[in-house]
Amino acid sequence: MSRKMIVAGNWKMNLSRAEATSLAQGVARCPVHDAVDVAVFPTAPWLVPVADALSGSPVDLGAQDCYVEDAGAFTGEISPMALSEICGAVLAGHSERRHIIGESNELVGLKVKSILKNGMVAYLCVGETLDEREAGRAETVVYEHLETGLAHVGALELDRIVVAYEPVWAIGTGVAASADDAQAMCRSARDWLGERYGDAGLAVRVIYGGSVSPSNVDELFAREDIDGGLVGGASLDATSFGALIEAANRLSAV
Ligand code: PEP
Repeated sequence: MSRKMIVAGNWKMNLSRAEATSLAQGVARCPVHDAVDVAVFPTAPWLVPVADALSGSPVDLGAQDCYVEDAGAFTGEISPMALSEICGAVLAGHSERRHIIGESNELVGLKVKSILKNGMVAYLCVGETLDEREAGRAETVVYEHLETGLAHVGALELDRIVVAYEPVWAIGTGVAASADDAQAMCRSARDWLGERYGDAGLAVRVIYGGSVSPSNVDELFAREDIDGGLVGGASLDATSFGALIEAANRLSAV
């Protein structure tokens, strides 16, 4: 069986304009593979220069967040309608937004709705904290994130949904989930999607995020329900990001 993998780089609130442009040029030079979709999510001020640097390359450009309304008196917010002029995708519900900024499940669901309405792909990020895992609530939390994040999404829109399972305790810590744990939760998410939406749900790509690096990528991407990764730290260097793309290509046949 062969599957279409995703390698997506979340640059978070990092990099100067020159650094972001140079990294985008490096990513654009990475070999292209039919079996791998590549996307980068720079900080908002650098979306335009990064779009320019990626011009002509198949690398997709994404934003890290957006608001739920297209336009109006929402000072400081980012319009999904404006983003749709330069971006193909937007992250929704990244744990740093849920836990640092305080975004609710319901707000994340409305963001997903507005991303889809504007024709972009929504990367819905789901995942439990360490306390929730230790309390035996990891699956419950992920199901809640799916339920609320996809509250306004119909089966016909699922081809523009990517689910990123990102256990909070693995993000930016250097300690990734074990391949067994990541596979098990990606499988649970897929089962949930299948129960909710049938075959269209089963076909949604489910990726893993949390300290993915060139040293652990093979074991993670080799697992059948892990269709790639959302990558923070290791996406800030074109060589390590390129290594993840190569691994995804090799393991797409699994
Ligand atoms: C992320 O920001 O989504 C992420 C997974 O970060 P890191 O790869 O650095 O853990």
